[in-house]
Amino acid sequence: MNQLKEIILIKNGELALKGLNRSSFEDRMVKTIKWRLEKLGKVKVYKSQSAVYVEALEDDFDYDKACDIVSKIFGIVAFSRACVAEKELIDIQEKAVEFLGEKLRNVKTFKVETKRSDKKFHLKSPEVSREVGGYILSKFPHLRVDVHNPDITVGVEIRETSAYVRGEQTHGAGGLPVGTGGKGAILISGGIDSPVAAWTMARRGLELVGVHFASPPYTGPRAEQKVRDLLGAVSQYSGKIPLFIVPFTEIQVQISKKCPEELFTIIMRRFMMRVAQMIAHKEKCKGLITGESLGQVASQTLDAIVCTDKVCEMPVLRPLIGSDKEEIVQISRKIGAFEISVLPFEDCCTVFTPKHPKTRPSLDLIEEAEKELDIEGLCQRAFEGARLEMIRPDDFAN
Ligand code: ATP
Ligand code: MG
Repeated sequence: MNQLKEIILIKNGELALKGLNRSSFEDRMVKTIKWRLEKLGKVKVYKSQSAVYVEALEDDFDYDKACDIVSKIFGIVAFSRACVAEKELIDIQEKAVEFLGEKLRNVKTFKVETKRSDKKFHLKSPEVSREVGGYILSKFPHLRVDVHNPDITVGVEIRETSAYVRGEQTHGAGGLPVGTGGKGAILISGGIDSPVAAWTMARRGLELVGVHFASPPYTGPRAEQKVRDLLGAVSQYSGKIPLFIVPFTEIQVQISKKCPEELFTIIMRRFMMRVAQMIAHKEKCKGLITGESLGQVASQTLDAIVCTDKVCEMPVLRPLIGSDKEEIVQISRKIGAFEISVLPFEDCCTVFTPKHPKTRPSLDLIEEAEKELDIEGLCQRAFEGARLEMIRPDDFAN
């Protein structure tokens, strides 16, 4: 028997809804898959009839690793490992037994599901399922067909050029291909929320630029490394992320010297927004992203958010605004960020935190207090002092 030719068969769901954009969305996804898999060896990635195919061009291609990478690419709704068969019943039958034999041996029930996009194929889908099912039963007499709740579903697809046999489908990361939604700047701290906010927006197709405010010597190199590691986890999904590390000490020291203590947090947040916006403009981002969730802390009440947003002319996306901490933690764990976020290094926010921050700050008071500061100079120096690094998924892959 010939060696089995294996592929990964990828389904893109929401893409199907995008009308004329669909083709460019698919192209973007194909490109992403190609470069994310490149390091595993030569692959051919192509689309045909609303599916994307990944075919290794080298013998020892690691399909397990490839599937792990594919599971983190946005825009993919489901994928499965499959093998290629000739468009002849006997070949489909034999390939099904050869490709899935190991799995079939270890289960009790199965069913065959056939999809025939090549309507010229001489058998209809139910007939193919019946014939392939019968053949499998003849080779594995311990099996029983269960159409409602089978241990394993054998998938057969009859397409234009070939037939395919596949095992179970795996859920993909969903969403839209990164880059199809424009670019946004994520204000990234070392906490739990902002990496989840970053992931959530990347999932909707947004390309990310990271902005982190560091306050040395109050915050140390380990806090910065934590931010790199967090974006490293996000980059497994989003692809590479430029990260700007902004010196924030002067701003924090000036605020704590010259402004009322209870307004410290809100004024600090307004400075973060101002400087982030300067970076966002330079990087051609169309919006800012934060990990804020309504009511979580004093600076995240609606009154406080109103005061923060007064300094922004860009939209501020807050994807977690209505989420509970539990829900946020769940995503954080799923994307491999949680263990990093809970490491105990000081963040610039915690260094100067007032004991009694205002939950209902008044804009007049804030603007009055800010008159004591050289806003433009402070922002300009922070902006100019920013260091740029590139966060690449391969440097953080486990
Ligand atoms: P997180 O878990 O994301 O740190 P949080 O619940 O601790 O959020 P805050 O510390 O009030 O809340 O921060 C609110 C948002 O402000 C964060 O989600 C993040 O987007 C941004 N932010 C806070 N600190 C920093 C920082 N040092 N650098 C960049 N952005 C920050
Ligand atoms: Mg925080």
